[in-house]
Amino acid sequence: MARHLVTSAIPYINGIKHLGNLVGSQLPADLFARYQRARGNEVMFICATDEHGTPAELAAQKAGKPVAEYCAEMHAVQARIAEGFRLSFDHFGRSSSTQNRALTQAFAKRLFDMGLIREVSEKQMYSNADGRFLPDRYIEGTCPNCGYDSARGDQCDNCTKQLDPVDLINPRSVISGSTDLEMRETKHLFLRQSAMKDKLDAWIDSKTDWPVLTTSIAKKWLHDGDGLQDRGITRDLSWGVPAQFEGAPWEGMEGKVFYVWFDAPIEYIAGTQEWAEASGGDWERWWRTDKGAEDVTYTQFMGKDNVPFHTLSFPATILGSDEPWKLVDYIKSFNYLNYDGGQFSTSRGRGVFMDQALEILPSDYWRWWLLSHAPESADAEFTWENFQVSVNKDLADVLGNFVSRITKFTRSKFGEAIPEGGDWGEAGEALIAELTTRIRDYERFMEAKEVRKAAAELRAIWVAGNEYLQSSAPWSVFKTDPVQAGAIARLALNLVPLYAVLSAPFIPDAAASMLEGMHATDQTWPEDVAAAVRALPEGHAFTTPDVLFGKISDEEREDWQSRFAGIRT
Ligand SMILES: [Zn+2]
Repeated sequence: MARHLVTSAIPYINGIKHLGNLVGSQLPADLFARYQRARGNEVMFICATDEHGTPAELAAQKAGKPVAEYCAEMHAVQARIAEGFRLSFDHFGRSSSTQNRALTQAFAKRLFDMGLIREVSEKQMYSNADGRFLPDRYIEGTCPNCGYDSARGDQCDNCTKQLDPVDLINPRSVISGSTDLEMRETKHLFLRQSAMKDKLDAWIDSKTDWPVLTTSIAKKWLHDGDGLQDRGITRDLSWGVPAQFEGAPWEGMEGKVFYVWFDAPIEYIAGTQEWAEASGGDWERWWRTDKGAEDVTYTQFMGKDNVPFHTLSFPATILGSDEPWKLVDYIKSFNYLNYDGGQFSTSRGRGVFMDQALEILPSDYWRWWLLSHAPESADAEFTWENFQVSVNKDLADVLGNFVSRITKFTRSKFGEAIPEGGDWGEAGEALIAELTTRIRDYERFMEAKEVRKAAAELRAIWVAGNEYLQSSAPWSVFKTDPVQAGAIARLALNLVPLYAVLSAPFIPDAAASMLEGMHATDQTWPEDVAAAVRALPEGHAFTTPDVLFGKISDEEREDWQSRFAGIRT
């Protein structure tokens, strides 16, 4: 039994994610985790909410709540929606956990001891009225470029010019509105990524099987311009992992926390510790190569914007510690999913968000469309027309229709039981041979995390069943040879649980209904197709299932199209 550690990039806490976020990390990670479990392997699938940083503080302020309370509420919301999409995390943690705090501080101390953290003094905007340093986003003023009066310290939202807080005309504090600001000396910790450059470069070079999307982004950061730069890992904020703590090898970091991008990936490990504490399990055999993790295969899933942090910053933390932590074996990254001629946008509320999607259709519809159109080799686009066609053709016409046709035919001619006697003959044997070839291809694509190809192969497996029914035509054969017709039906009925097991990683709810309808309890992966199509014995009772997938009508499509054309408020 192989052991698979699977992590999805952790979604930020401030608000509900859109479908583009879902398909770029959590959903393909879930597909892979479900597949590995179905193959009988041991899986640890970890995700969490990313709760620290300025945006969380600002969102809480906007909601009029203490930030800890805001994060607890939003975590519960995101966990509920993840359940709605059947994301099968072994644990959905929180980067604000005590485990992550302790581990982040331990890593920082270790990196300092290894000579990989240096202290840097720099000048930063200080608010006398608020009694604190202000991060760039906490400062607003007039844009020197376009005159917009609410430009932020890091960027003007009106003309998109990148800014420094000192560029702003009449700068003021976002917290208090005070203009009593001054530049003051402040100290920060920097991770010496530049010292790790050659080691990281050699490590990336050794990953010859990684997607080009992943390695090209890493290489760009390693070599473009002056190459990989040291990175500030502390911020002047109160919400986060305190940078000054008992046993810290530095002083004067009071009131500062670690930068969210330093502590967030550490939550993959801390989340497993949270799981261990809740379940009584052993986290070290997943993460410590000296405690049993040397045979673990670790796969990460993420959107391309997260690649630099996972190929460089987090590995710099792991490698820099010189401790026996498990390093990632494979990074699967995704391009962007666009929405109907533009971009999905959380800040502007554009597109379909996870909660809205579940309000209009069951999760399997979305899972199938998103995964079969995953933005792997290039950006992809969601359009309502494409969604309608894909759902109606693939799910309703191909899979749903197959299940409905064979169960209804059998019920009308033989009753709700697997027909007895006869032999399905050469056409049946040819189908078994075709399915065997296709299932081995499907397995290969799933192992390689080739999501679109796996979806296309699964669809071809469904199509093969439909074509077999069409060409064998048991309804015609029945008129002259009912026993032969029964044998054909027996083979086709046995495909229903076979399809359920194969399809479950993509469409778990429909797969469960198919198994339930066939009164099938065995969910063993079909290593041997010839044996699998004989699993339901002659005389075995079944229940004709309800319609598996409804079709999306033109009226529904138009209604949703206009409902989601505007901006979420
Ligand atoms: Zn501007």
